[in-house]
Amino acid sequence: STIAACFDAMVARVPDNDALVVRHQNVRMTYRQLQLASQKLASAFLKLGLQPGDRLGIWSHNNSEWLLTQLATARVGIILVNINPAYRVSELEYALNKVRCKVLITMTEFKTSNYLDMLRTLVPELATATSPQLQAARLPDLKTIIHLGTEVESGMLRFSDLMAPAFSGEHEDEQVKKISAGLQATDAINIQFTSGTTGFPKGATLTHRNILNNGFFIGEAMHLTAQDRLCIPVPLYHCFGMVLGNLACLTHGTTIIYPSDAFDPLAVLQAVQDERCTALHGVPTMFIAELDHPRFAEFDLSTLRTGIMAGSPCPIEVMKRVVRDMHMAQVTIAYGMTETSPVSCQSSTDTPLEKRVSTVGRVQPHLEIKMINPESGEIVPIGTTGELCTRGYSVMQGYWEDPEKSQEAIDADAWMHTGDLAVMDSEGYVKIVGRIKDMVIRGGENIYPREIEEFLYRHPAVQDVQVVGVPDAKYGEELCAWIILRPGQVADEEALRAFCSGQIAHYKVPRYIRFVEAFPMTITGKIQKFKIREAMSEELK
Ligand code: ATP
Ligand code: MG
Repeated sequence: STIAACFDAMVARVPDNDALVVRHQNVRMTYRQLQLASQKLASAFLKLGLQPGDRLGIWSHNNSEWLLTQLATARVGIILVNINPAYRVSELEYALNKVRCKVLITMTEFKTSNYLDMLRTLVPELATATSPQLQAARLPDLKTIIHLGTEVESGMLRFSDLMAPAFSGEHEDEQVKKISAGLQATDAINIQFTSGTTGFPKGATLTHRNILNNGFFIGEAMHLTAQDRLCIPVPLYHCFGMVLGNLACLTHGTTIIYPSDAFDPLAVLQAVQDERCTALHGVPTMFIAELDHPRFAEFDLSTLRTGIMAGSPCPIEVMKRVVRDMHMAQVTIAYGMTETSPVSCQSSTDTPLEKRVSTVGRVQPHLEIKMINPESGEIVPIGTTGELCTRGYSVMQGYWEDPEKSQEAIDADAWMHTGDLAVMDSEGYVKIVGRIKDMVIRGGENIYPREIEEFLYRHPAVQDVQVVGVPDAKYGEELCAWIILRPGQVADEEALRAFCSGQIAHYKVPRYIRFVEAFPMTITGKIQKFKIREAMSEELK
């Protein structure tokens, strides 16, 4: 099935259920209203001259227009390109040109960022444009910019104008239906850039079949129903928001709730209470920020039941607090990557808690996974660490117009090589050990930073910790820990070393310990270890 066909079938079942609540915009829509609005927008996109297969970029924080755009593009086969709202001029230029976007939807300003100024840098023609048909030297393929604000800027279209009745008519509606009926589940519908945790983001080309199925099975594992209300504070620009959030809800008749445009822990707590949310998503750093919020205890979160913690290693202690203090007894953990739509392993709500807090669950239905020795390609025995490979409906078509990189990632037998190290137990539960790129080899000894992070995290003064390898003349690499202390807590290097002593092997005790205020992070809340390594190499030079 295609995304639109599946969504329409759900609308027929629960037309009057709330589909969307956007707290910061004060928007509420039922399934039926969302369907009508997405049909209207789809016809407006056709009227702009877009055709199936064309690329439309969206560069924005979370809002109702984001979801509408996701549904409208899917309805007429336009490939949606998710653009990170943290991108600045050169990154935006790269992304738009890389996939040759014809249309860009964007905010004009956000908090202290002026998006309009950034666009003017890229498209100086905007200032003198007399019509919204662009010809920009630095963005040769871009024809139209649509903005979400209310200001009028010649050379740009207003999103709200696209939704006005005057913009589209009966004729286009027929056209929308015709195009929609001709779409194939195997058509590309979405290009998502990876987070850029390990370097330059890569554009993964995904089909209806890829992301729709993944969203559906994610919702199944959480036992979502039309009575559930899922709070989505994770960015929509990333697969966590648009697939684990939006598509998991829309395939189950569940209500989507966006608490804020960019992540705000207080807005999340308020939304969960006011909207009586039954589910909540987040990366570990978000859950930590919510749990540690000074006003945490004021909120009634007792309606919560489930949710997903994913995106990066989930410390066991945080999982336990989420279950106990946020009432999310059925929280699930997911593991995945943009290139696999994204999830390949997930725990279910009925996975024993012990397994849920210590593993990423089992392989999702209809997918295969295996752990291999990255050098020989041989499958490693149960209980042995190897590179995790995934095969099945979820594996991307490839990196956009990059056959070479695609072939490096997806082998001739259709296995996606994830670059992640994992180990499976005899019951099929998978533990993510770390990234191949993050593994530290100290004097010939393989060290997985994750293990040391878990250990240091148990120290009462430690709020968050990251461990990396830094170059060392004698051992090849040495361990370095960056630590964020809990507010009001003190600890020094001595104290932390003493804490490790006798508890973990001497070579696993970090040689360098640094106390910091924050970690270098991607907008999705993922910590960029390569930047920590760079900073340390610089310091130790
Ligand atoms: P880039 O590929 O650009 O460096 P990225 O790999 O972080 O960035 P994503 O596709 O957003 O981009 O993230 C996928 C990666 O996140 C996985 O390969 C894995 O390393 C990590 N990850 C995801 N979920 C989990 C989890 N539950 N536990 C541990 N690691 C996870
Ligand atoms: Mg990656």
